[in-house]
Amino acid sequence: MLKEFEERGEKVFLIRNLIEVRIPKKTYDKLIKRYSKEYIISFAEEKTVLNYITKRPLYFITRESGIPLLGYNAFGLIDRGTNLIQVRPITGCNFNCIFCSVDEGRFSKTRLVDYIVDPDYLLEEFRKVAEFKGKGVEAHIDGQGEPTLYPYLVDFVRGLKEVREVEIVSMQTNGVLLSEKIVDDLEGYMDRINLSISALTQDVANKLYGVRYPLKMVLSIAEYIANSKIDLHIAPVWLPGYNDDEIPKIIEWALEIGAGKRFPPLGIQKYIPHRHGRKPKVKVMTFKEFYDKLRELEKEYGVKLVLSPEDFGIEKRPRMPQPIRKGEIYNAQIVLPGRMKGERLCIVKDRLVSVLTDREVGEFVKIRITREKDGIFAGVVI
Ligand code: SF4
Repeated sequence: MLKEFEERGEKVFLIRNLIEVRIPKKTYDKLIKRYSKEYIISFAEEKTVLNYITKRPLYFITRESGIPLLGYNAFGLIDRGTNLIQVRPITGCNFNCIFCSVDEGRFSKTRLVDYIVDPDYLLEEFRKVAEFKGKGVEAHIDGQGEPTLYPYLVDFVRGLKEVREVEIVSMQTNGVLLSEKIVDDLEGYMDRINLSISALTQDVANKLYGVRYPLKMVLSIAEYIANSKIDLHIAPVWLPGYNDDEIPKIIEWALEIGAGKRFPPLGIQKYIPHRHGRKPKVKVMTFKEFYDKLRELEKEYGVKLVLSPEDFGIEKRPRMPQPIRKGEIYNAQIVLPGRMKGERLCIVKDRLVSVLTDREVGEFVKIRITREKDGIFAGVVI
């Protein structure tokens, strides 16, 4: 759980293979004469905390920090007005997919910081949203990054499953950090794993994922999940010109290993270029082209590929009340840096609001709310 080493004149602690705490060696040597390691890690003033995978500054979001978990799309909870609640415990990814909609991974040019949410705090806040939604809630763990990097994942999933209103716990993952032991530990608590496998050919996979992709390992863990009580949903991204020949192979393979016991076995995703995502040069399919192709494949393989929220039991439900509205003006305190250059996060009425400004954390700014869609808020400094 705790590794330690020295590097570049610093004492480094690596907690749960993710949280990297760096303290100048001279400072550490003085402190260790009087305090325990645990105390120094928590309270040393002169330290840098990084996400070990992405090497970006890592912010730990706790209840004591007073930072709300609603309002921002990179961490916390998102309620889009259905019985599905998106749960985002962590940012950062061990991949660098060439099509990544959030430009994630170590080589990201736009994401500057990472966040990790304390599991007890996230559960506490999740319970409130679930209670508001009522019975038959799906807790869907996803995020701007790879959720299996969350060091508290297994206990957190178990906690979600115990929430009275929760019927389904599901998770989006690239699968690389899963092991048979983790799948065993999740069994009985996790209902569905959405696994994003976009190629079955090694060099195509390497190109798509931007890393040496452990194809054999991912295929084997996929099969292991399919043979467990957890439902397996294979979710490739179709990137024209890159993996056109892979899609039929993935369909055949998913059916062969028994994906989709309760939910559809496949959810093929259309590549959509995003403003702040990575954009490979491809001829982007129109929605019509994409759905026409899916329908052809449906006929060929006899499997449903054009999916709707109902296929996953998703239905409309009232949204959590929105305490702030577009056009309103507030004096708000900046509490955290945002993920993007020049982005800061402010608190308004127990919600986070993203604003573009070069003012510092701790300062107050006068802002006008410019976005309030799906409980995600943005504003401009006026
Ligand atoms: S697409 Fe997903 S797996 Fe790939 S880099 Fe982005 S967050 Fe990571």
